[in-house]
Amino acid sequence: MGRIFVVSGPSGCGKSTLCNRLLKEDPQVRFSVSATTRSPREGEENGVHYFFISRGEFEKLIAEDAFYEHAESFGNCYGTLKSYVDELTGQGYDVLLDIDVQGAEQVRAKNSEAVLIFIMPPSLEELKRRLVERHTESAEQLEKRLARAQAEMDRRDMYDHIIVNDDRERSYGELRDTIESYREKNEDSIEETPVQG
Ligand code: 5GP
Repeated sequence: MGRIFVVSGPSGCGKSTLCNRLLKEDPQVRFSVSATTRSPREGEENGVHYFFISRGEFEKLIAEDAFYEHAESFGNCYGTLKSYVDELTGQGYDVLLDIDVQGAEQVRAKNSEAVLIFIMPPSLEELKRRLVERHTESAEQLEKRLARAQAEMDRRDMYDHIIVNDDRERSYGELRDTIESYREKNEDSIEETPVQG
């Protein structure tokens, strides 16, 4: 069985870049494609970045208990599909969940084996600079994202690992090593099992 790795961090902290590189370089890791009611941004594809669905469809999935967790953020709903994650972990993949703090808390409550990783921007100033550079936010949205970022960072203590994204290579190495350290633990526990016969 694979393991669930939850990766959270304020938008603009560089989390997506780190996750995308890991997904590209480690064939044992797969991305949990969430369902969302928000509209696709430029370059985002349905079924790859998210499953873009209507609010009605989202509510139907909640009623069917189809989510491991779901949360509302900036007026949009996001949810992790049980069927999607279970199929991958069942196939032996480690699954990366790029979800917010509210979602991480729900996953932790349901799955004590899940590993929670928080990505921190080097500073709030740097985060602001990155968000402004991205040009996807209105001034009002930007302010909301910054306030939200601070609130999320205030809750980082519930995570098992905190990675400060101050240097691309170093931070990536830390993320990769963290994930590998859990695989070593799995292998150790297999070795410790006495061989029958
Ligand atoms: P964005 O709209 O920028 O793609 O994502 C906004 C926030 O929603 C990010 O913090 C992201 O981690 C979070 N998010 C994305 N998918 C999910 C999900 O399935 N569940 C939860 N709880 N949060 C999610």
